[in-house]
Amino acid sequence: MFGDQGALPTDRALHGPPPRSGLSFKMVLQAVGRTLRKSKAKPNGKKPAPEEKKIYLEPEHTKSRITDFEFKELVVLPREIDLNEWLASNTTTFFHHINLQYSTISEFCTGETCQTMAAGSTQYYWYDERGKKVKCTAPQYVDFVMSSVQKLVTDEDVFPTKYGREFPPSFEALVKKICRYLFHVLAHIYSSHFKETLALELQAHLNTLYAHFILFVREFNLLDPKETAVLDDLTGLLCSGAGAAGTGAAAAAHNHVKER
Ligand SMILES: [Zn+2]
Repeated sequence: MFGDQGALPTDRALHGPPPRSGLSFKMVLQAVGRTLRKSKAKPNGKKPAPEEKKIYLEPEHTKSRITDFEFKELVVLPREIDLNEWLASNTTTFFHHINLQYSTISEFCTGETCQTMAAGSTQYYWYDERGKKVKCTAPQYVDFVMSSVQKLVTDEDVFPTKYGREFPPSFEALVKKICRYLFHVLAHIYSSHFKETLALELQAHLNTLYAHFILFVREFNLLDPKETAVLDDLTGLLCSGAGAAGTGAAAAAHNHVKER
């Protein structure tokens, strides 16, 4: 199974193996429906996770990209560019793209459909500026993420754009924090809104964005592998070659963050 920090104790048994290839999307939906009905009838009263079958792992979907571009090369720091400048411009771009991707399904992500910010059995909590845990729904969490990241990337003291201004000493830590939040949003889209993404035919965009983002955070050790473990199965399929091996490589990296 996956990393279980912050994991809910419920429904572990419902996470069966991914459906075999060759099944039609309709059959998968029917199977999900059956699982849901069956699990609702369980006497323990535990509510099933929103999407037990990981449809996003279906080969027909993981093959879907908008480009075959080699992102592994694209994320590498160009020789003449300052590292912080590179981190700043990429982080800002990922923020805009992930915000846009979430906006395509945001009407389906409501306080009713997503009462907590979850990705499979992992649950994320928001902490306010004083470090107090805030109880919030998924759309509220995403709103907190997007407004706090927006504030950071437009703050001249944190993301300087004017000539001669320096990046603050805390810059790398802030970039890691932003990447962690953005990953939570991607993980929520995959685990709770992949069906809507499919209906909108935006799975190729999502997969491409995810693969690019993961290769970027790996290149600069911006995320703890434990943080991304919730989507390791997907990462293994989308970031071919780098996938399964990447977890180990990233785990061996010397400067990855420990905090959550
Ligand atoms: Zn949602």
